[in-house]
Amino acid sequence: PSRADIHYFGAGPAALPTDVLEIAAQALLDFKGTGLGIAEHSHRSELATNIINEAKADLASYLDIPTSDYETIFMQAGGTGEFAASVYNLVGAWVARQHAAILQELGDGDEAAVVAALRKKVESDLKLDYIVTGGWSLKAYQEAVRLLGPEYVNLAADARTINDGKFGKIPDQSTWKLSKDAALVYYCDNETVDGVEFPEFPAILAPKADGSGPIVVADMSSNILSRRIPVSNYSLIFFGAQKNLGSTGVTVAILKKSFLPPTTVQPSAPLLRKLGLPIPPIILQYEIIAKNNSLYNTLSIFDVYIAGQVLKKLLRTYENKVDGQQAVAEKKANLIYSALEAHPDVYQIVPDKSVRSKMNICFRVTKNGNVDEAEKSFLKEATALNLTGLKGHRSVGGIRASNYNSIPLEGAEKLAKFIDDFAKA
Ligand code: PLP
Repeated sequence: PSRADIHYFGAGPAALPTDVLEIAAQALLDFKGTGLGIAEHSHRSELATNIINEAKADLASYLDIPTSDYETIFMQAGGTGEFAASVYNLVGAWVARQHAAILQELGDGDEAAVVAALRKKVESDLKLDYIVTGGWSLKAYQEAVRLLGPEYVNLAADARTINDGKFGKIPDQSTWKLSKDAALVYYCDNETVDGVEFPEFPAILAPKADGSGPIVVADMSSNILSRRIPVSNYSLIFFGAQKNLGSTGVTVAILKKSFLPPTTVQPSAPLLRKLGLPIPPIILQYEIIAKNNSLYNTLSIFDVYIAGQVLKKLLRTYENKVDGQQAVAEKKANLIYSALEAHPDVYQIVPDKSVRSKMNICFRVTKNGNVDEAEKSFLKEATALNLTGLKGHRSVGGIRASNYNSIPLEGAEKLAKFIDDFAKA
């Protein structure tokens, strides 16, 4: 089949718009008549800086990021690297706050006394809260435990406890066991593997009227750019590019500026060593990356360029920016879920209705009491119609239709029709 025939529902890397790839392909050969491709130009060139700055500005415009309070950085860590980066940077910020308070109290005359007091504070009060609602937040929680040790990491909610050991629901916020003054409260806005999405910002984490409130970190790898988000409720939002933003290779962090110098300076390596806390690799330190406008080391400018072109296309397509895309995403998801709901004897949607993802639609297929055979034929027949990438994640099985921004309405319609035809056949 040719590219134009296929609708690819893979979970990531996702399909990219063909016109964006055509622009990128040309840029790879010869960027703007320079005789040199974009992947060959120096990341220190003015041209590279312009690509970064334009992508940042377009992202801010599309998502309404208040740029006076938030810095956007491009990294290469992947979502997985951000599991670690969020721990290092926000533990560092927590230590910096406690350090400042202790210096206020004790003065800076007796360094050993200050370190001893700080160490005591770390041992008694340092806590990171995790809301675990699926495979990815579970991985982030496990990484925090691995880096810091279990004594510092609080499993504030575990969705499996209310759903027979499986993911598919979000525990009521009133049951979340949040710590006092946690270094961060972490959640994953859209669980790519389990098809669970937070229907809205969790109210219990909202800032109070005076602006104080929990330090909220969200993984938005698989639903960024698909819905409006209240950016100012977060201290950190991160996402890999390879679903809704662009190609694999860049990761974005949107960080509250109050976590950067001059407000917050990360503790030094010797101090962390004395406190028994891990020392972050320099490449995961947000303040270093931010100070260098994402160019502390060699960044893939080609991948930033693709992300920038995707953002430009979104801004061209939707006058009302992310709200326009959100309406389309909801329409596409409704089409697919409605087709599934019309045949409850054949299709079993995995997550609870209240938390169904608009991006990753997870379901099982049963015919004549047989799941394996039915899913095999579902995938085979779908592929014959050029509806591809529908196999569920290897850890959970089943079918997963990833309904990212690059799937056109027509693709969702075609899939919905196939879902209906397959059930009737
Ligand atoms: N977080 C979410 C929600 C994801 O879907 C993924 C990957 O699919 C990751 C994190 C991990 O991203 P990466 O593979 O870039 O490390």
